[in-house]
Amino acid sequence: MTSFDFDACIVGGGAVGLACAYALAKRGLAVVVLEKETAIGQGVSSRNSEVIHAGLYYPTDSLRARLCVAGRRALYAFLEAHQVAYRKCGKLVVAAEPDEVPRLAAIAHQARLNGVEGLETLTGAQAAALEPGLRCVGAILSPESGVFDSHGYMLALRGEIEGLGGDVVLGTPFEGASAMADGGFLVETSGDPGTEITTRLLVTAPGLGAQDVAARIEGYPPEFIPPRHLGKGVYFRLTGPAPFERLIYPPPIPGALGTHYRKDMGGQAVLGPDLDYVETEDYVVDPARAESFYAAVRRVWPDLPDGALAPDYAGVRPKLHGPGEPQPDFRIDGAEMHGLPGLAALFGVESPGLTASLALGEEVADWLEGPVLEA
Ligand SMILES: Cc1cc2nc3c(=O)[nH]c(=O)nc-3n(C[C@H](O)[C@H](O)[C@H](O)COP(=O)(O)OP(=O)(O)OC[C@H]3O[C@@H](n4cnc5c(N)ncnc54)[C@H](O)[C@@H]3O)c2cc1C
Repeated sequence: MTSFDFDACIVGGGAVGLACAYALAKRGLAVVVLEKETAIGQGVSSRNSEVIHAGLYYPTDSLRARLCVAGRRALYAFLEAHQVAYRKCGKLVVAAEPDEVPRLAAIAHQARLNGVEGLETLTGAQAAALEPGLRCVGAILSPESGVFDSHGYMLALRGEIEGLGGDVVLGTPFEGASAMADGGFLVETSGDPGTEITTRLLVTAPGLGAQDVAARIEGYPPEFIPPRHLGKGVYFRLTGPAPFERLIYPPPIPGALGTHYRKDMGGQAVLGPDLDYVETEDYVVDPARAESFYAAVRRVWPDLPDGALAPDYAGVRPKLHGPGEPQPDFRIDGAEMHGLPGLAALFGVESPGLTASLALGEEVADWLEGPVLEA
């Protein structure tokens, strides 16, 4: 039997790559995570809303629906067990105008199909009683939604992986891989020094680098590498006390959940992200975008004072669809797609990837190793 340096090599030390490594290490596999940056979680996983999504919106039977609900349940348990900060603050999806009310009913229906617990439909007055100052004509209350310390979460994942004997190697870009004659992969890294390792299984979870990494795997059919679209979103911070405790969301917009309100783990109010397709990764927040934020926020919070919004940060979604195209599901591409046994290639892990990460890790481990059978 061929022997390998590692059972599984995971490319990418963001929330998803770390969760895949954790799931595989828990099954007794010797894992190594290759991360090109000098710290974990510097990619998409550090530029998002840190919202734990309940799983309201996603189409029935999609990976996003199933893994968001399962991942959210697993995430709360993981955060609790590892004493990582979170607040299960709940969320209101609000209709600012009567014509949005039917959309709330459709969201509530989909959420129930997805198995989301505890939803309540509220009148505008009931919502305002929960969050004084909020103006809406109706709302859905999702008590399972929350916010959390995503970096603390990734540090805890890294601790678990290393505790199980795995390695998380930083400053080590994946350069390429080729399938070996008797199975497994020879993986080449660059960095200082570059090296070669052998692995039985290969998982690629490099976020925005998914297409580039797949193209570096010898024999990966280019026609199965999906196009990359960059969906930039910017955030503005409120310079004053946070007005609401719960997350406040509008009904979703095409391709995103809509500019929303959250009180972050530091107690500050943050608005965003919007959605703007860009050609290159850039994280500049144009102060001029504030105008559209004032308009969006005042639909539901008319008391937002002039001059209260300050540019904050930006994130870029690893999208597989362009403007106006339907939003596809997460992709976990296996041998039936690319013809390379032992390789799971992830594409398009945008929202709710952070929430879903633990379930996504288990899903990838099941794909590669078969489900763990209960004793
Ligand atoms: C604006 C925005 C808001 C969001 N809000 C939420 C939210 O509130 N809740 C939620 O659940 N989800 C949210 N998401 C989605 C979530 O952030 C992502 O799905 C998740 O973080 C993706 O994690 P990842 O590990 O796949 O990617 P990343 O975190 O980007 O990790 C990939 C890693 O791979 C590394 N890498 C890339 N190429 C190579 C290479 N060649 N060699 C080695 N390493 C490499 C990168 O450096 C990076 O560290 C949001 C996303 C965005 C953009």
